[in-house]
Amino acid sequence: MNPADPRPTIASVTPTLCGLCGVPVPFDCSAPPLAPVLDCARDALGGQTVRRCLVFAPDALGNQLRAARPDLFERVAAVAPLAVPLRSIDPPWTPVCFASMFTGAGPERHGIRKYEKPVLSIDTVFDAFARAGRRVAIVAVQDSSIDRIFRGRALDYFSEKYDPWVTEKALSLVAADRHDLIVAYHQEYDDVMHATGPLAPRALRGARNSIEAFTDLAAAFDSAWARHPRALVFAPDHGAHLDSSTGGGAHGTAAAADMDLEHFWAVRPPVRTPSPS
Ligand SMILES: [Zn+2]
Repeated sequence: MNPADPRPTIASVTPTLCGLCGVPVPFDCSAPPLAPVLDCARDALGGQTVRRCLVFAPDALGNQLRAARPDLFERVAAVAPLAVPLRSIDPPWTPVCFASMFTGAGPERHGIRKYEKPVLSIDTVFDAFARAGRRVAIVAVQDSSIDRIFRGRALDYFSEKYDPWVTEKALSLVAADRHDLIVAYHQEYDDVMHATGPLAPRALRGARNSIEAFTDLAAAFDSAWARHPRALVFAPDHGAHLDSSTGGGAHGTAAAADMDLEHFWAVRPPVRTPSPS
């Protein structure tokens, strides 16, 4: 990490999830946890450990979009109010980013440095959770980076046709309350913006679809998981910029539009129910 850069990277998601849940970090994790999130958990939970985590990972919803359409992100912050400014991973390609986000390690350690989707050989947050006896589910669009690079672990994989099916599956998994960590991935905004440009109406509709799904998931998180100390995070991988030579959207450069983003966290205590007499 560059000490001159005050923003931590998205690799800090892994040690933060581990810190919240009392799980030892993966062997290759070198990123520090996000102090504002751990502080928030201390205030909200008074020393209790988080028992359920829901990570929603929408592709390419970075600060460039938030600057243009703050209204969209107000809806995110309404359910996950702790906004943490972060940097993506250079080069900001989806598999490079998610490999770091879920190992706590940089590309030099996890080995994915370009747009390629090998199965990761290093330790991940999912392995760490499995070793601690926690149950993990990944719900992603079939053949997306997240669907491919974390295979071969002791977790439940759900490969879905597209974002709406991801949302439905994730909602049913939250309702079933059988997993301790659920990751759900959406890709419509990234898919569309590459063709239309980052702020074209069709791309914005994709972003809005994902944010609506996130608010639906947050509602399920609060009802089905009400009795658990729980954490919710809106965790995009990178941003995007307009490629003026094509008119489409692009990313993969070290420019701020591609690298700067925010994650939105919430940590909530169990809802108290009257004890039976
Ligand atoms: Zn992309």
